[in-house]
Amino acid sequence: MSTEATLRQRLLTPGPTQVPEAVLRELAKPIIHHRTDQFRQIFSQVSQRLRRIFCTQCPVLTICGSGTTAFEAAQVSLISPGQKAVTCASGKFGERWQDVYDVYGIEQVRINAPWGHAIEPERIAQALQQHPDAKVVTVVHSETSTATGCDLKSIAQLVASTDAILIVDGITSVGALPVEMDAWGIDVLVAGSQKALMLPPGLGFVAVGDRARHRLDRSISVHCYNLDLRRWLSSYEKNDVPFTPPISLIRALSVALEMIEREGLQRVWSRTSRLAAGTREGLRVLGLKLISAMPSDSVTGAFYPQTTAGSVDDGTFRAALRQRHGIHIAGGQKGRCGDFAGRIFRVSHMGHISEMDTRAALVAIEAELIAAGHPVKRGTTGKAIERFFNDSVIASHVEEE
Ligand SMILES: *Cc1c(COP(=O)(O)O)cnc(C)c1O
Repeated sequence: MSTEATLRQRLLTPGPTQVPEAVLRELAKPIIHHRTDQFRQIFSQVSQRLRRIFCTQCPVLTICGSGTTAFEAAQVSLISPGQKAVTCASGKFGERWQDVYDVYGIEQVRINAPWGHAIEPERIAQALQQHPDAKVVTVVHSETSTATGCDLKSIAQLVASTDAILIVDGITSVGALPVEMDAWGIDVLVAGSQKALMLPPGLGFVAVGDRARHRLDRSISVHCYNLDLRRWLSSYEKNDVPFTPPISLIRALSVALEMIEREGLQRVWSRTSRLAAGTREGLRVLGLKLISAMPSDSVTGAFYPQTTAGSVDDGTFRAALRQRHGIHIAGGQKGRCGDFAGRIFRVSHMGHISEMDTRAALVAIEAELIAAGHPVKRGTTGKAIERFFNDSVIASHVEEE
């Protein structure tokens, strides 16, 4: 018998993520019309708040669809058929952006790193030297499928010194990890609603920097309608949207962004990083190996251990976490250049997640690994993470003095 229905549920998957009560309440409000002053006021406030979260003065477009819609829009709006792009992939999502350009028949210089490894900035520099005609570079800041980050600041710097436009998948970095669009010189930064921004799925965001803006203004031939960013940009200038937007989601977004501002963006970044570091420590003492050589702080992934009973069955393990503990985490994904399906699990640190949630997840993970035959002593991870969080509280107090 499952107790799932009566347990407090903790959603620690790397998208969708937990939605705060205040945001849910906003979603329940009656629908208003979007061609009204009331909506325009909300939309203007949302756009302003988005600019602060993206650390930019440039337009941040709010697009209906998921993160993929927003990224595809950026990809197709900034390049014409017959032109060349440098596309980086070290996991499922980087591979997806390569697939998108395949569909549009864009010639690609592919930079692929093994799953779990970061894209090295030098390889991008080299590719741009060899292909000075490349119009676009795509890169994933936090590759969620492999829980891996990259040195985005260096990448942005080196692409800025060329004619190519850098399009960054910040879908699990904006609102979770330090990423400063203007200061780092990022041309286009994309995010989605259901990761660090604490909303249900349904909205994508495209921040358009000056160089990208310039390219959009020159009439390059874009072979799509809804995804043509020029359409969204010209509405945005009038504080408007081109088509009927998900009004409820946009209202809820305003509430979620206000929460982030109240906590403080820097504090959100350091909370996320603390939860990630605590999780890595909690998994280390259980004897697990991380899947990433350069872990991102938005999500942590670990390989299942070999146990006396063989290997841990991913489906059984995660079902037990849900049913016995109300803990929802993600498994592994399979892509073209890597396959983590059935071999790993991933725990998210993005958005509306507390130390308590993280601790609960680790304690449950330990319990179910023991049940699957992993030989550790009960209480190992609980003690380690408690010590870790206590020590880092002391460290942060010292810093404030
Ligand atoms: C979730 C995710 C996406 C895809 O976003 P959707 O909203 O599912 O379309 C793309 N890139 C990264 C890094 C992600 O984590």
